[in-house]
Amino acid sequence: MQTVSLRTTSHWIDGATVADQGSRTADITNPATGQVTGSVALASEATVNQAVAAAKAAFPGWRDTSLAKRTTVLFAFRELLNARKGELAEIITAEHGKVLDDALGEISRGQEVVEVACGIAHLIKGGHTENASTKVDVHSVRQPLGVSAIIAPFNFPAMVPMWFFPVAIAAGNTVIVKPSEKTPTAANWMAELWKEAGLPDGVFNVVHGDKESVDTLLDHRDVASVSFVGSTPIAQYVYERGTAAGKRVQALGGAKNHMLVLPDADLDLAADAAVNAGFGAAGERCMAISVIVAVDSIADELVAKIAERTRTLRIGDGTRGCDMGPLVTSAHRDKVASYIDAGEAAGADLVLDGRQVTPDADGEGFFLNPTLFDRVTTDMSIYTDEIFGPVLSTVRVDSYDDGLELINNSPYGNGTAIFTNDGGAARRFENEVEVGMVGVNVPIPVPMAYYSFGGWKASLFGDTHAHGAEGVHFFTRGKVVTKRWLDPSHGGLNLGFPTHS
Ligand code: NAD
Repeated sequence: MQTVSLRTTSHWIDGATVADQGSRTADITNPATGQVTGSVALASEATVNQAVAAAKAAFPGWRDTSLAKRTTVLFAFRELLNARKGELAEIITAEHGKVLDDALGEISRGQEVVEVACGIAHLIKGGHTENASTKVDVHSVRQPLGVSAIIAPFNFPAMVPMWFFPVAIAAGNTVIVKPSEKTPTAANWMAELWKEAGLPDGVFNVVHGDKESVDTLLDHRDVASVSFVGSTPIAQYVYERGTAAGKRVQALGGAKNHMLVLPDADLDLAADAAVNAGFGAAGERCMAISVIVAVDSIADELVAKIAERTRTLRIGDGTRGCDMGPLVTSAHRDKVASYIDAGEAAGADLVLDGRQVTPDADGEGFFLNPTLFDRVTTDMSIYTDEIFGPVLSTVRVDSYDDGLELINNSPYGNGTAIFTNDGGAARRFENEVEVGMVGVNVPIPVPMAYYSFGGWKASLFGDTHAHGAEGVHFFTRGKVVTKRWLDPSHGGLNLGFPTHS
């Protein structure tokens, strides 16, 4: 087997790489080859405390930095990111496994949030009222919170942190990013970019770790807010523990996204969409389509078209121009494969079996081929569970109403899509479906950065979505100032509750 030089990814605190004060580490693995390529430090409580102290110390200076200066730094970060995103994409592909084009795609979606945050001077404006009472004026401002923690999942090492930190920093907060220990290095790369862009030390920090570092952040009295993205059980845990400690928390969880295909849909468009949204990034996207809800009259034709397209996909190392890369770890690959076993055992029609795979890759990568099931029923684990792999299930329904009911009965509510040429049906769906992000003939309806990203039900704990207006709201708190400047008419006693006059 080819040898690789091992590197260590450690924390970034106060503008420099910092070794951990404990001794725990985890392996970093290239999922396409199965080789261990490095290790990541897992922060001790002392290291997390050091990061929080650095972020706390940097806060007053950054909060008081003019909007013009903050915006200049954001523009510089945007330019550097845009010019050098190829380097970041290579890091993502080497640790996550997704193909290079897809890694570039996630960086672009993150970059859009940076671009929106460049408009912070406008986004953060308050209101002003003259003569609310006689010679009394009122104005409102939105002020930063302090230290913001951002805890990310493995599947978008660049984009998910960028859903939050551009807005948090633009608004005057200081941040600590806690990446996934499976894909840690992208955050350090972005930290160095911030330094080059002119961000003062201590405003952007990275601590690596697992439950111990997360718990320390959740309990720390100097952490003001927590933005979490990950699986539903951990999202709920983070929300409950963080809010119990008095923090503002937004915790985005898992998903099971349905795509409803009506009889009048363009079935070629729908089949393309199902393949792209089902198998892109090997299904390891929170907005992946994992269930096709097909009205029975077109189900045979649709499944055949999806299968035909899926057979043309090239699976392999993400650096080799393939369509789909590996799963993130061998354990996850095995878990996804066990769902295929379970679906088959439960009696679903196995149209394409992903367990048979000959990838274009060297070594022992964590590959599966795309799997397609038909005639899946709602009691099967391949329907009920978030598999987070390249497994697409088809459930057949008799009508729009049955399809809608199915989707609304799901405990998740992240994304969904309808495929139809009937504007009236699409409009009903937009109105009736209980999901946070809805596509009409668009399979992965990720909102643009100037809108907000977030699901409903078990896909989000808290009431604030990421970026857009809700992001600005999350990372600031409102203050209203009522003021009167002395003039000869002031004064007089009145013990009643203040009313306008
Ligand atoms: P995960 O929940 O295992 O981990 C997420 C983060 O939580 C990581 O930083 C991890 O270190 C930390 N963590 C893990 N276990 C913990 C524990 N017991 N206590 C405290 N912290 C813990 O998720 P993952 O496997 O990295 O990511 C995949 C999941 O993320 C999927 O469920 C996917 O749907 C979800 N996701 C959701 C969205 C969204 O927008 N809703 C976006 C991306 C991913």
